[in-house]
Amino acid sequence: MTATAISGRTRLSAVYGDPVEHSLSPAMHNAAYAALGLDRAYAAFHVTPERLRDAIRAIPALGILGVNLTVPHKVRALRMMAYLSDEARLLAAVNCVINRAGELHGDNTDARGLEADLRENRVELNGRTAIIVGAGGAAPSAILACIRMGAGRVVICNRTVERANRLAQRFARHVARRGGGRPRETIEARGLSALTDAATVRAAALIVNATPMGLKTGGFAPLAYEATAADCMFYDMVYAREPTPFLAPALALGRRALDGAGMLANQGELAFELFNGVKPPAGLMRRTLMKRLGRA
Ligand code: NAP
Repeated sequence: MTATAISGRTRLSAVYGDPVEHSLSPAMHNAAYAALGLDRAYAAFHVTPERLRDAIRAIPALGILGVNLTVPHKVRALRMMAYLSDEARLLAAVNCVINRAGELHGDNTDARGLEADLRENRVELNGRTAIIVGAGGAAPSAILACIRMGAGRVVICNRTVERANRLAQRFARHVARRGGGRPRETIEARGLSALTDAATVRAAALIVNATPMGLKTGGFAPLAYEATAADCMFYDMVYAREPTPFLAPALALGRRALDGAGMLANQGELAFELFNGVKPPAGLMRRTLMKRLGRA
């Protein structure tokens, strides 16, 4: 929708972030609104942490349909919701705020977005090892996706091991609560040095980078790429025009590698349906994103 097409009846959805100027969500959502002929528009708002509470309160006041939250708001927003989905509770983060008749519902679509991308790319974990690098805001969604895909062992590797420990304990409790009897998965916490341990990386069917390492400056942590199995999938939650520092050595060895663009497209489609009550046209948000990333 162009600005001139916005009328007195146009309803808004949005993303809140700090920074937010780089966000590709407006392009994806507005392409779907235009294709469906809906009198709706999606905007990006630069919201600082200090103004998050005010910005969240504005959602019912302005009749905004729903809001995506990105860095650094996902955790802080938890306490500002009237209701939380089980998934937002487990992940301890909200990336979708849905306005249901003035009540704010917090949900989280990151794990579903990642799982769908892994399945679309025929990653099979049944009983195998997955390594998650990181223990910050995005790591829990990767752990949950791997558990749902039947990983036998999840190894969380983080610079601060204590943080990895806390996350491992949280998911061990989830796994224990979920099924009676013995849990099918083991969840371990390690430091980043585990990435150079040949035995650990050799066992992995999937290695996910859930940190911003290598995003702006510097490279990725040392990793024994040559020791990985030939069918190991490397997945970077970061997305960029060029292969990221985490993925480039894997690609050079002929390993499979994906960045987080597919996850972003999938979680965008899920958010669109939550906000608008209709699915976006199949594949349109993904095609729009890929075009913006110069991949179409
Ligand atoms: P975050 O909470 O800031 O991540 C912090 C994590 O990164 C911690 O585990 C931290 O380790 C580690 N870390 C940061 N700098 C490091 C360094 N120099 N060396 C070693 N470890 C370092 O961020 P997040 O929300 O988890 O997001 C992580 C990345 O995933 C971001 O780039 C984000 O854009 C991306 N993401 C993508 C999608 C998608 O849809 N594709 C969705 C969500 C997130 P310590 O605990 O030791 O500090």
